[in-house]
Amino acid sequence: MSFTAIHDPTKNSLAEGYWFLFFRDRLVVSRNGDGGFTVPRPSGNAASPESTAPSGNAASPESAARSGNATPPENRIPPGNEAPAESAARPGNATPQENRVPPGNATPPENRVPPESAAPQVDPGSPENPGAAELAALRGKISRVLYFGRLDGVDCYAGDLASDDGLPDGFTADSLRPLYGKIPPSQMIPARFAGHLLHWDRSTRFCGSCGAPNRDKEDERAKVCSSCGALTYPRLSPAIIVAILDGKRILLAHNRRFATPFYSLIAGFVEMGETLEDCVAREVEEEVGVRVRNIRYFGSQPWPFPDSLMLGFIADYDGGEIRVDRRELLDARWFTPDNLPSLPAGDSIARRILTWYEKDYAPGLGPKGA
Ligand SMILES: [Zn+2]
Repeated sequence: MSFTAIHDPTKNSLAEGYWFLFFRDRLVVSRNGDGGFTVPRPSGNAASPESTAPSGNAASPESAARSGNATPPENRIPPGNEAPAESAARPGNATPQENRVPPGNATPPENRVPPESAAPQVDPGSPENPGAAELAALRGKISRVLYFGRLDGVDCYAGDLASDDGLPDGFTADSLRPLYGKIPPSQMIPARFAGHLLHWDRSTRFCGSCGAPNRDKEDERAKVCSSCGALTYPRLSPAIIVAILDGKRILLAHNRRFATPFYSLIAGFVEMGETLEDCVAREVEEEVGVRVRNIRYFGSQPWPFPDSLMLGFIADYDGGEIRVDRRELLDARWFTPDNLPSLPAGDSIARRILTWYEKDYAPGLGPKGA
């Protein structure tokens, strides 16, 4: 299974292929017979561009310019500070009842990854794709369509559903965060792409310099201002997450945002002018008051909520007493492999680093923890 991103605005109208539809910033998923998730693949009865992809939008330049190109701080949630999938729902961010994943699907995410073969790759209308019949109901609600690439040779479309009424029976909508591990990995990559792309598209309808409407640039993924010609490219907001090690000990923190009492790694957004290593050292000093050295890269994770890229690091403790930044954290302390607290679940860079710590790093140090 492979996904290739392709920019071709001439194909921005719904046709046969994979539809990655979003409803109120949540991915629309159909439920197939065995309780897994799949992105509906419609048959060839493509609607006309006129009926499915309205060109204009109703927002005034003023209101769009106000919403601007900047993500409000409250939306910039560092990945490592996110609750695990099981506890992603929190006050003020409640999932509407009709969008909830039904209880029958409430097994832990790690047990819920369907095999690749479980993702129906069949034309709708066939008995293997019971969600197909409802696609007609969704089609008329799509307010914006963006062609964005091919998954195993099949065209992929990102679409925004009008949010004024609910979803038809047979579909639910869920944040991509709790969907990690629930939908096939091959679909997760284009799903992340589609969510990020739609968010960027919505927030750049008007020029950030002069307020005139933007239009799609034909030869690359960018918007060009119809008045002053300014270019707007998709934005990525890098963030770091770091494991602080001292022999067998690991420093973990409980963030105020966490909905359940688990501990995770220190994380934060990269500031302008910083190297990634600068950011690691600064975030660690700001949040827990200790110094680190020997900062090395571990791995990364796209975190398009709405537009971050998470870069994971390991660093060695280099002195200082723990001093908790109470604005961000409720607690921070050293743990050892035999007294670890409850940790983030799911498939995240934080979880991967912690698994490496538990399974590879700490056992490799031997009984003395040298
Ligand atoms: Zn302009």
